[in-house]
Amino acid sequence: MTVDDIKRVTVIGTGTMGNGIAQVFATKGYDVDMVDIKQEFLDRAVAMITKSLDRMVKKEKISEDDKKSALDRLHTGTDLAAAKNSQLVIEAVTENLDIKLDIFKKLAELCPPDTIFASNTSSLPITQLAAATKRPAQFVGMHFMNPVPMMKLIELIRGIATTDDSFNLIKDLSVKLGKIPVEVNDFPGFIANRILMPMINEAVFAHMEGVGTVEAIDEVMKLGMAHPMGPLTLADFIGLDVCLAILEVMHDGLGDPKYRPCPLLKKMVQAGYLGRKSGRGFYDYSS
Ligand code: NAD
Repeated sequence: MTVDDIKRVTVIGTGTMGNGIAQVFATKGYDVDMVDIKQEFLDRAVAMITKSLDRMVKKEKISEDDKKSALDRLHTGTDLAAAKNSQLVIEAVTENLDIKLDIFKKLAELCPPDTIFASNTSSLPITQLAAATKRPAQFVGMHFMNPVPMMKLIELIRGIATTDDSFNLIKDLSVKLGKIPVEVNDFPGFIANRILMPMINEAVFAHMEGVGTVEAIDEVMKLGMAHPMGPLTLADFIGLDVCLAILEVMHDGLGDPKYRPCPLLKKMVQAGYLGRKSGRGFYDYSS
């Protein structure tokens, strides 16, 4: 298969990342099947995409017609079997190894032998996910950044068995999508989160220990380090549950206590304070 053979893509999981991934493919002319566990989650994802495309029309980045055609290319459903018509399946479900392994086992049964599989996991082992598919040669880690339509980077991760053909196809596809792929080896957290998450975790420790308020910590990192947003704002944006899951994977996978998640982060996730998506995290988004 070459990059030009990819015409239809299935995105499994249509939360923060999945809806962005679906939007990018649809605006670039691909048919996209979006799969989630409940139709209401899919409807919410399409509403988010519509809002995002409206903003792009307003900024004159795309025309009203482009928006309409992109929306027409989106198909939603709760049945994984939609994936059998796609040349590429991208998994973007909750950062949980068992859920992802279960999905890939089912996909391996459903999809034709040449279908390529990708995972948007932030930290889980690509090699282990690939092994569940019985076609690990055709499996690539495709780690998009949030918000997907805006961010140029995609970390591309090879599993131990990924072939050059599969890897290069996904690399070419990333460029076709207008993104910049960077090759990364398969270690917990890859590059982006290996460096970002310890900073976010340290910001939560600093707040928990009373070094500064949430606002003070964010202000110092914005004004002092020229970061576009402070680490606690960024954590809310990513999702505190996602941050915790990534830190746990790095802590388990690398075995170094420096990755232990801050107890305050754990407590906030237990309380359901997940950041922007739940209306409350380090900041209040209820209004
Ligand atoms: P999210 O919680 O916003 O969305 C996850 C979606 O997966 C939900 O809609 C949920 O209903 C769906 N889902 C759960 N189980 C499913 C199943 N069995 N079948 C189909 N759908 C299922 O999470 P997210 O932030 O979009 O993260 C998704 C993936 O992307 C994770 O692996 C995460 O690590 C990774 N990621 C997240 C970010 C970020 O900034 N949030 C950035 C890069 C990568």
